[in-house]
Amino acid sequence: MRFLLTLILISSAWAIDFDSYFTGQTFRFDYCHNGTADEEHISFDQVRSEGSWPGSRTQLIDDTDLGKYYFEVIDLTSTEIIYSRGFCSIYGEWETTGDALAGNWGTFHESLRFPEPRAEVIVRLYKRRDDGKFREIYTCRIDPQAYTINRSALKTEHKIWNLFTNGDPKDKIDIVILGDGYTRKEKRKFHADTKRLASALFDVEPFHSRQSDFNVRAIDIFSPESGISNPRAKAWKQSALGLKYNTFNSDRYVLTYDNKTVREIAGRAPYDALIILVNSAKYGGGGIFNLYSTVAVDTEPAEYIMVHEFGHSFAGLGDEYYTSNVAYEEFTPSGSEPWEPNNTALLNPEHLKWAELVVEGTPIPTPWDQAAYDSARVNYQNKRTQMIASGSNADSMNALFDAVKRTTVPVLEANQYYGIVGAFEGAGYQAQRLYRPEIDCIMFSRNPDHFCRVCQAAITRVIDLYTK
Ligand SMILES: [Zn+2]
Repeated sequence: MRFLLTLILISSAWAIDFDSYFTGQTFRFDYCHNGTADEEHISFDQVRSEGSWPGSRTQLIDDTDLGKYYFEVIDLTSTEIIYSRGFCSIYGEWETTGDALAGNWGTFHESLRFPEPRAEVIVRLYKRRDDGKFREIYTCRIDPQAYTINRSALKTEHKIWNLFTNGDPKDKIDIVILGDGYTRKEKRKFHADTKRLASALFDVEPFHSRQSDFNVRAIDIFSPESGISNPRAKAWKQSALGLKYNTFNSDRYVLTYDNKTVREIAGRAPYDALIILVNSAKYGGGGIFNLYSTVAVDTEPAEYIMVHEFGHSFAGLGDEYYTSNVAYEEFTPSGSEPWEPNNTALLNPEHLKWAELVVEGTPIPTPWDQAAYDSARVNYQNKRTQMIASGSNADSMNALFDAVKRTTVPVLEANQYYGIVGAFEGAGYQAQRLYRPEIDCIMFSRNPDHFCRVCQAAITRVIDLYTK
């Protein structure tokens, strides 16, 4: 049945003639996502005209089944789905926090981007239910001829430059790197950080062997002050994109809620994926699928964070760790299968979702010495919590991370199934009932320099979605 469905999706994707439905320009649908843990509402903001459509003109339908949310653009006359994409949002994470569960309301600005249609369309937004299926939460009709569509020019004050290009945006994955907390005097530093961190990303497979499928550009954005805000330390900064630490009360989680500013600046460059470099020496980063990833550039593990967070934002990879404090009360509802390609609840061990990568004879679930790993980590975890509370400096935090690595790597490597694909308990912020594909991976710890095989396959699939 699933095979049949895939065939239908592929054939409908082939049937869409881009030029008959789309003008070749980009529309950005802006809205506010409001609600509590129990209810959510979408309120329309604007439709914004951006530049030339940078995405694929042949792969218009997203059949990867990734993301907590999903939207479709439907041609009103033919009722055919002419574009679709899965994505995640800050709202989607926020609604799982204690703040939302306490009944408080949150509001977040979000955008959907799709090629500008020639005729009237319906935009339909879906949310994934606990059973994994999508439920419609919002629908809106858009007339591309309407005078209300914002067709004013995007700002031209920020310079766009190429790190490397390999071809026309429509055939390539276009990454745009933005910077926050860089003053005009720190322009050279931004360029050096961009080169260093992009090169770290393309050192890792499968990005390394697929580099010719990417274009990477950067935009010079200058902030009035150096650095970004750290509310927990009461250190507030004026930064161009408004990034700050301590999202959802998590010290290291760096995001901005100023979506519109980011989009207005990024929209001048062709982009499929955004990375925001944070000019800071304090450990941190973040990544949300099909939104952006962030990385604090001056910490010792910046290269690692760059790759890990891009795994989230580009390929929808889930976290495989379960040992760090996060703000989510119940990120994956119990009894439901996570949609992330590298996490599973193993509800049906006979049909493991990455079964094709498991060597025959590997037991599922796969045994590993979780108790030994946990006891090797526990002291460090407590120490880290104390250090965050007392505002320890970056050097002592880096020293702690090094000690964790030295202690835990031998403990992980001592397992019989180390380096083998199976289903290892402990993933997605839960020590029990969620499983990860390998004992170690860039999505699990800072130890390895490579993604596990399942994560690599998931990234490859997304690269193919943009380029094949
Ligand atoms: Zn992995």
